[in-house]
Amino acid sequence: MTARYIFVTGGVVSSLGKGIAVASIGRMLKARGLKVSVLKLDPYLNVDPGTMSPYQHGEVFVTVDGAETDLDLGHYERFIDMELTSLSNATAGQIYSEVIEKERRGAFLGVTIQTVPHVTSAIKERITNLARQSGADVVVVEVGGTVGDIEGQPFLEAIRQMRNDAGRQNVFYIHVTLLPFLRSTEEVKTKPTQHSVQALRAMGIQPDAILCRTDAPVVDLGVRQKIGLYCDVPVENVIGLPTLDTVYDVPLVLEEGGLGKALVRSLGFPDVEPALDGWRGLVNLVRQPKEIIEIAVVGKYVDLHDSYISVRDALLHAGWHNRRQVQVNWIPAELVEQVGPERLLANAAGILVPGGFGERGINGMIDTARYARSRKVPYFGLCLGLQIMIIEFARSELGLPKAHSQEFDEHTPDPVISYMPGQQKLKATGGTMRLGSYPCRLREGTIARAAYGTELVHERHRHRYEYNNDYRTSFEEAGLVASGTAPDDSLVEIGELLGHPFMLGTQFHPEFASRPDRPHPLFKAFIAAAARVLREGGQHRMPIEPEAASRVHTV
Ligand code: GLN
Repeated sequence: MTARYIFVTGGVVSSLGKGIAVASIGRMLKARGLKVSVLKLDPYLNVDPGTMSPYQHGEVFVTVDGAETDLDLGHYERFIDMELTSLSNATAGQIYSEVIEKERRGAFLGVTIQTVPHVTSAIKERITNLARQSGADVVVVEVGGTVGDIEGQPFLEAIRQMRNDAGRQNVFYIHVTLLPFLRSTEEVKTKPTQHSVQALRAMGIQPDAILCRTDAPVVDLGVRQKIGLYCDVPVENVIGLPTLDTVYDVPLVLEEGGLGKALVRSLGFPDVEPALDGWRGLVNLVRQPKEIIEIAVVGKYVDLHDSYISVRDALLHAGWHNRRQVQVNWIPAELVEQVGPERLLANAAGILVPGGFGERGINGMIDTARYARSRKVPYFGLCLGLQIMIIEFARSELGLPKAHSQEFDEHTPDPVISYMPGQQKLKATGGTMRLGSYPCRLREGTIARAAYGTELVHERHRHRYEYNNDYRTSFEEAGLVASGTAPDDSLVEIGELLGHPFMLGTQFHPEFASRPDRPHPLFKAFIAAAARVLREGGQHRMPIEPEAASRVHTV
């Protein structure tokens, strides 16, 4: 059977939650037994977001096959509960490089290379290739950016052409817009949506449905009728999407708004009842009142929470399944250097140091690890967070005051975290890093093994530096054990400290694998340990000073 395509564009402003809408559509279709795949088209010229600062782009999401991709893929994976690959993210940078490389090879046989048809064909090839490779019934394609962006035009032209290529009945266009809500008059305005749809039509695309994001509590029938009239969309396909208390409610709200029905009817799929009871149970769990537990995340890019979006979600998931509401306290590592960990971390039931690159804030993270270790506060280190824990332990417990990672001190006499040339050549699938999923064997009798409840796991990596095996015996003898290693024992993947309630770090990024209804076992164990220590009266508590507190961001 030919694949069906749903194209989702955005209008009026960016950051409307288009990615969440696409992820929700994926879940609604999967709930009808359809095989879904998803593609994010990013009109920027970077080949991938791996080279962008998190401040520019937010988190870099890593797929199992080692692609560095847009953070929306994280939403897709979490909502649809599937593992995506490099096929699910295409950037303008990749498309143009591919076209130009082909031109240099002489593969175009002397013709003039143009945006239309050559660039648009390369874009369409990415879309149809995903359909072929995944064997999906429906491919949902999100076009990044906002209608009207210059760099987005080839992408809009490509999805316009897809209607003829794939057959009109097999293609559905959804436009996500904003209805500004004016508090003074308590009304929503439709004009920006009308303009945005005009701009879309100027590109030759008539939307089949419009999703109206708004801060108003509801979008009433009159407003929907007006939009329907001006934009030539049946009123039942104009669907309101108010701001919700949890993004996980979006699939249910869109379903209630009739989007699922509209999609299957228009695309010729059987109109079956979607199996969303499990999802409803999840949303109920999210909404149940729960005891709050504060987790401090000490990192470099905490000012922009999107930099650690999978970490935040993984913490929330783990909280819900421990009957706790995690409150994340974002603490800039540099602030720890300035005011000391005692003043910033006193209220944290658990401390997490996430991944990161570069020297800024490293000492603050090391101080944080020392604080967590000596006060027995549960500590979870992700990638860089493991390396920090190793460095701190070497300095404080192995009598190696200059121990460091070669990333931060090339000439350290004790490179406890080191660059392993050869290792990268062997294992890298892109860029210069160790990227993607690798197996990890868990040692019997450890916290990690108990948490996973199995011996062999696969987790995603994105790093250049590694635990240095030359120091392994010293670490092990002092109580910092390798609880997870590569199956051939050549690399340490998890370290944990004996005699501590939970001081554990992973060289991989477990956050990418967490699901709202299936939290990651290590995150779950971390929150459980934090809750336990808190219940037992946590040793380290002291009041936070107002001046320091005011500089700490809480969500
Ligand atoms: N900068 C460290 C490395 O390259 C850690 C990377 C990370 O935390 N993702 O090994």
